[in-house]
Amino acid sequence: MKDECGVFGIFNPQVDVAQYTYWGLFSLQHRGQQSAGICTADGKKMRSKKGKGLVLKVFGKGFDDLQGHLALGHVLYSNAGLDQEINIQPLRVFYDDGDLALACNGTINNAGALRHDLQKRGVIFNTTVDSEVVLQLIACSKKPTFEERVADALMQLKGAFALVLMTDKKLIAVRDRYGFRPLCLGKMEGGWCVASESCSFDLVGAELVRDIKPGEMLVIDNGEKEPVSKMWCSQMPDNCAHCVFEYVYIARNDSRIDKQDVYAARVNLGRQLAKETKGKFKADVVISVPDSGTPAAQGFAMESGLPFMEGLTKNRYVGRTFIQPTQVQRLNSVRLKLNPVRCVVKGKSLVVVDDSIVRGTTSAKLIKLLKGAGAKEVHMVITSPPVVDCCYYGVDTRDKATLISTRCSKDEICKEIGADTLNYISLEGMKEACTAVVPNDLCCACFNSQYPDGSDKVAAKDPVPVWLED
Ligand code: SF4
Repeated sequence: MKDECGVFGIFNPQVDVAQYTYWGLFSLQHRGQQSAGICTADGKKMRSKKGKGLVLKVFGKGFDDLQGHLALGHVLYSNAGLDQEINIQPLRVFYDDGDLALACNGTINNAGALRHDLQKRGVIFNTTVDSEVVLQLIACSKKPTFEERVADALMQLKGAFALVLMTDKKLIAVRDRYGFRPLCLGKMEGGWCVASESCSFDLVGAELVRDIKPGEMLVIDNGEKEPVSKMWCSQMPDNCAHCVFEYVYIARNDSRIDKQDVYAARVNLGRQLAKETKGKFKADVVISVPDSGTPAAQGFAMESGLPFMEGLTKNRYVGRTFIQPTQVQRLNSVRLKLNPVRCVVKGKSLVVVDDSIVRGTTSAKLIKLLKGAGAKEVHMVITSPPVVDCCYYGVDTRDKATLISTRCSKDEICKEIGADTLNYISLEGMKEACTAVVPNDLCCACFNSQYPDGSDKVAAKDPVPVWLED
């Protein structure tokens, strides 16, 4: 079981970089809520502060001790077992060339094998997370320059990674050769920043410059000069594989990823669903499961001519159900998070637009809530196809047995969750909704079992790390 995270990096001699990193992480909080960390450097010394919980909790008492002109931040979602204090990022090592820190979003699928090899060579690991192999590979590389050492390490990795490295003097941002996970570059007065999502840039007063390209390494060691761009990967695949689930669910509505506005993609998903379900049921009103379902519900309403209303109110102080570490927490979170608006749903036949059905627990709970509030009928429409396989690229669907679509047909799921009808968007329809991305440049592996880099086979062969055995 792996994680979905958010990373933020900044190089700016004119501002309090710790403060800006705090804001950057604050805007990425939806990507991980288990822990947060910031590491700063001033050209001579590196300092860090990290802890379990939300950004506000970890840094609520301030960060005066974090000085410097460059910084790195991370928010973590991790499954139970990997969220111990030692694993909180940014990770740091001290090697012959000085301090080195790393914040990573993704999954290294051959981390077990790499770790075994390194340990045989005498390397001692400080954590139990897969990202540490990247640091140790860099430290062990015999290449002459730091950038070449990084490239040497990256060439050995299989899987998905959008990561930011920091030395005492520079930031390095890299993306894997397929571009599974997002990472973008922003410009601000006096400096540069990089982030998992462009929504971070608004909060720190930066402009989105561009996405970091798959296979690219960006070196930032000056606040004014353009970052130096190199391709660390010499063997690029024919197509990228940007995670389609970022557009469906993960990213914030106000982000732009790989030139595609997330909000626009979600509206298109709703429109497409309305076209695909035309004539399949009769309804009075369209409601959404907030937040990612809301633009899609608006799109569905626009296309179908049905009114859109707020039928569920969200308690904004409870985390996202999908990114809580245990099933028990997921169940409690649904109850805590959403409440029906009775005057909207009572006596109505509802179209309920949601982004996905992964385990089925959230949908069943929701429909029970809506029917308990007097809804006459509930027609579920889902802006992604059935999730039928695991993700090996950083999203928490590694246990196939928990995916409801692997054991139940569509009709059985409809019955199990208590809906009157259930319809999923088609795979083609979902891809077409991302109008700015070439359909073949999207990863849809959890929906069609086609893993762009064969990571399913790599992960199956990778030795189970000692800490996860039993
Ligand atoms: S397998 Fe699914 S969740 Fe994972 S990267 Fe591909 S589309 Fe995204």
